[in-house]
Amino acid sequence: MPTEIRHYIGGHAVEGSSGRRGEVFNPATGEVTGRVAFASSDEVDRAVAAARDAFQSWSQVPAIRRARVMFSFLRLLERDLKKIAVAITAEHGKTIPDAEGEVQRGIEVVEFACGIPAMLKGEFSDNVSAGLDTHSLRQPLGVVAGITPFNFPAMVPMWMFPIAIACGNTFVLKPSERDPSASMMLAELLREAGLPDGVFNVVHGDKDAVEAILAHPEVAAVSSVGSTAVAEHIFRTASAHGKRVQALGGAKNHMVVMPDADVGDAVDATIGAAYGAAGERCMAVSVVVAVGDATADALVERLSPRVRALKIGPGMQAGVEMGPLVTGQHRERVRGYIDLGVEEGAQLVVDGRGVRVPGHERGFFIGGTLFDRVQPSMRIYQEEIFGPVLAIVRVPDFESAIDLVDRHEYGNGAAIFTRDGGAAREFAARVKIGMVGVNVPIPVPIAFHAFGGWKRSLFGDRNVYGTEGVQFYTRLKTVTSRWPEPRAGEGAQFDFPRVRK
Ligand code: NAD
Repeated sequence: MPTEIRHYIGGHAVEGSSGRRGEVFNPATGEVTGRVAFASSDEVDRAVAAARDAFQSWSQVPAIRRARVMFSFLRLLERDLKKIAVAITAEHGKTIPDAEGEVQRGIEVVEFACGIPAMLKGEFSDNVSAGLDTHSLRQPLGVVAGITPFNFPAMVPMWMFPIAIACGNTFVLKPSERDPSASMMLAELLREAGLPDGVFNVVHGDKDAVEAILAHPEVAAVSSVGSTAVAEHIFRTASAHGKRVQALGGAKNHMVVMPDADVGDAVDATIGAAYGAAGERCMAVSVVVAVGDATADALVERLSPRVRALKIGPGMQAGVEMGPLVTGQHRERVRGYIDLGVEEGAQLVVDGRGVRVPGHERGFFIGGTLFDRVQPSMRIYQEEIFGPVLAIVRVPDFESAIDLVDRHEYGNGAAIFTRDGGAAREFAARVKIGMVGVNVPIPVPIAFHAFGGWKRSLFGDRNVYGTEGVQFYTRLKTVTSRWPEPRAGEGAQFDFPRVRK
């Protein structure tokens, strides 16, 4: 019997009243394992009302006490890390070590949020004019919402809510409808950590739930992560409703391999970064830019046997390197792109379309795929495939490599592999990309920095987590005070206030 997955509002699991539900699959077997309630505007209203009511007292709790809840949450996450990873693998399909890594990266944001009292410290200027002092402080926004994608069902929500809540906001999360269970485990752990009811709420669903959040007058800010079309829509709609928005979109991450790079290192890096999590990572490498034909030939020669030898199977099984894709529908989309690459004239070096996993014939598996001689005019180069399909683009020199990366509409991540410090430095300085790796294929910033792409990979002007996250979830207030001395009494002043000589 499929599990029923309900909303989580005001500290309780809540039945949906919309009558709409979605199916949740085990991607390794193709079976339906869950049925998730889809929220209508009614459930969104209830969740926002619970969050609004909770805000009154939560925002008044001293920051150090809010941080203590985060410390407790951190210990519970460490206790349940493996349990959460199993739940992720069961609905997403990625391998257990990969799911554990995802939870660990989320935990790092919670560790950062534990330090919130120091980050909320304001500034003070004494005696800015005779008898006048000025101080500034950061205050929470109110009810904030998070809309998250399927590919990191624990980590991406944890990019958002630990900081938002630690800053004194209350939160409504709309996780992906394809793997909703991890968010419910996080909600339970927050409760166990002592978070008051209503501070963290989960509404499940599809675009109906999202539209209700975007239009809700009591939602002050929206953080979202997903594909670019959805990110742009969320950014425009929520902005039009007067909300603060950060909307992270899709990606096509390039890894430039210079002729002087160690080919063995570059191949190792590419295999993990292109095929790990079956390519369903926003920071996956999906294009290798080989500088010079000799570099390209060496890469293809060493990559292709490794791609053919990838250990593909259910994510729960030890030793598996690549699990299935998230749904059958997504597998058809990825297959469609491989067909398209062949039609467009790219050279198909390794074809993953025929892969079978014995005993898991109904799972959503596809094999690692490698295209060489991909041209920038091809759709398989331009569009995000979000599967284990790697394109090699050959360029003659360093300048053409930078030009190629810069002309792509996405600007999430890019890496350069080289032994030349000058080339690496120039690449990092010039490239129009938000997160750059030097001999690091997936340069996801640590929690006390901030994550975000350029161009059409991020709409809004604040990255997620780190101090950027603290700024996103708070607004600045500046207070100017005068405590009159007994002899003050200059009478009314009609000119514009300024510092007097
Ligand atoms: P998606 O865009 O389909 O969904 C993201 C969220 O938006 C989900 O909660 C979904 O329910 C909701 N949604 C879907 N369609 C909608 C619509 N028409 N209107 C309103 N809301 C809608 O993304 P996905 O398939 O879940 O995740 C994969 C995508 O996310 C990829 O494009 C990937 O690059 C991107 N991603 C980006 C980052 C980043 O940091 N930039 C991180 C992870 C994933």
